[in-house]
Amino acid sequence: MSTAIAIVGAAGRMGRMLVDAVEHDAAAHLAAAVDRAGGEAVGRDAGELAGRGRLGVTVGDDPAAAAAAGDVVIDFSLPEATEAVAAACAAAGRPLVLGTTGLGEAQRSAVAGLAERTAVVHAANYSTGVTLLTALVEQAARAIGAHSDVEVIEAHHRHKVDAPSGTALRLGEAVADTLGRDLAECAVYGREGRTGERDRETIGFETIRAGDIVGEHTVLFAGDGERVELTHKASSRGTFAAGAVRAAHWAAAQPPGLYDMRDVLGLGG
Ligand code: NAD
Repeated sequence: MSTAIAIVGAAGRMGRMLVDAVEHDAAAHLAAAVDRAGGEAVGRDAGELAGRGRLGVTVGDDPAAAAAAGDVVIDFSLPEATEAVAAACAAAGRPLVLGTTGLGEAQRSAVAGLAERTAVVHAANYSTGVTLLTALVEQAARAIGAHSDVEVIEAHHRHKVDAPSGTALRLGEAVADTLGRDLAECAVYGREGRTGERDRETIGFETIRAGDIVGEHTVLFAGDGERVELTHKASSRGTFAAGAVRAAHWAAAQPPGLYDMRDVLGLGG
């Protein structure tokens, strides 16, 4: 049976990759595509926007209609869309695969509310490599984190609107949780001026925004006399799109709950 997929943010960089990934998947098809109301993509063919030729799916601006048309919704858009998308999924009883980063409190609580009614996969990064990186970072934190200065360094393209990246924050959280620290209290975002000496309990974040970098993350554990650097580099957005489509197939068969990519890959907590 083919999984019908509705894509929110279909005209964006990720949205177009997702249309392509869905159409490459013999077990899935594009059921609906949505983008920002009033945007120039609305009314155009989603396949043509993605450079795949006409698919007969017109980009709309109503998440409720899209959710009703699909078995699963995949949303890689902007936080402004999240609450309406969560409400649409709740009304139609559809699982949601959410890739949007930079969510605020209201959006996170809308996602948590939806997860009580349907399966929600929310991952800051849908690549298999970053999912593995997170597990390795936790292992390193357990072994040497307490005796190291930990810094998270990330680089992305010039169009990215939030910083640090959702993945960088997730990696910092993984270190903080493993070491029994609260990231909200120990995070230091960038440094400037007379900062004073570094406090070992802090976790530092450094952000680079330049050119067309798809996404790079390094977690640095620096002690006295040596350091360990764990790095992941994405070279194509296709890796996130393929992971999200895999998550959509998985979510379609799950009971309500909030899941992440580790659950999808069967890597456990
Ligand atoms: P983009 O700016 O190229 O695309 C965003 C799209 O969403 C645009 O087409 C825009 O018109 C549309 N949009 C804006 N408001 C909307 C609304 N209210 N309703 C419907 N559509 C709306 O951005 P992008 O590079 O494709 O990234 C999109 C999101 O995905 C960002 O939050 C980014 O950080 C995130 N992202 C996540 C992963 C991951 O693996 N989780 C990977 C890459 C990007």
